[in-house]
Amino acid sequence: MTFVFATHNLHKVSEVQAMLPADIQIRSLTDLGCDVDIPETADTLQGNALQKAQFVHERYQCDCFADDTGLEIDALGGRPGVYSARYAGEGCSFDDNVRKVLKELENVPLEQRTARFRTVVALIWQGKTYYFEGKVEGLMTLERHGAEGFGYDPIFLPDGYDQTFAEMDAAEKNRISHRGRAVRALVSFLESSKGES
Ligand code: IMP
Repeated sequence: MTFVFATHNLHKVSEVQAMLPADIQIRSLTDLGCDVDIPETADTLQGNALQKAQFVHERYQCDCFADDTGLEIDALGGRPGVYSARYAGEGCSFDDNVRKVLKELENVPLEQRTARFRTVVALIWQGKTYYFEGKVEGLMTLERHGAEGFGYDPIFLPDGYDQTFAEMDAAEKNRISHRGRAVRALVSFLESSKGES
């Protein structure tokens, strides 16, 4: 089975690729030569994941999936949430977003910096749409730690661990992460459906 993964983010592509069994292959938008910045204008993770998957499905008529992730910080009333990508403004970098979060949490003690990453994956397979979710609870750290991963990884400490996502290698992050959980749910759905298709 081959699916297009509707993303330009090469970190995500390698994270997801590493979790797939040998008989499920993915191609990224870059592999297709598509450099369009797919609109993400919905106000839910599910809506954005569907928007990205539908865009690719309509354009390339292929089986595909897309993910959308939000970081929900309790002390910020659930922000940045669905706006995690452009939290510091249009065209901002991962680093700008991290700086903004650290600034907003400046006076919040560690025990009150609870947060979670939530991912929704939308799969369009044989013309039907399916959704898969994953989440991981943790704390926003007081400062950056680590250089692996991307996005808010250097300031997210998953519950039960003493390393941020940016201090873990990809395999360890995948084992516990929001995207890891959502993608494993997708894989077990595909594996269990294989015999029926
Ligand atoms: P996206 O819309 O799924 O690409 O995710 C929105 C934003 O959430 C990204 O631009 C990143 O800033 C952040 N994000 C998504 N996944 C992760 C992750 O695994 N670690 C850290 N940040 C992430």
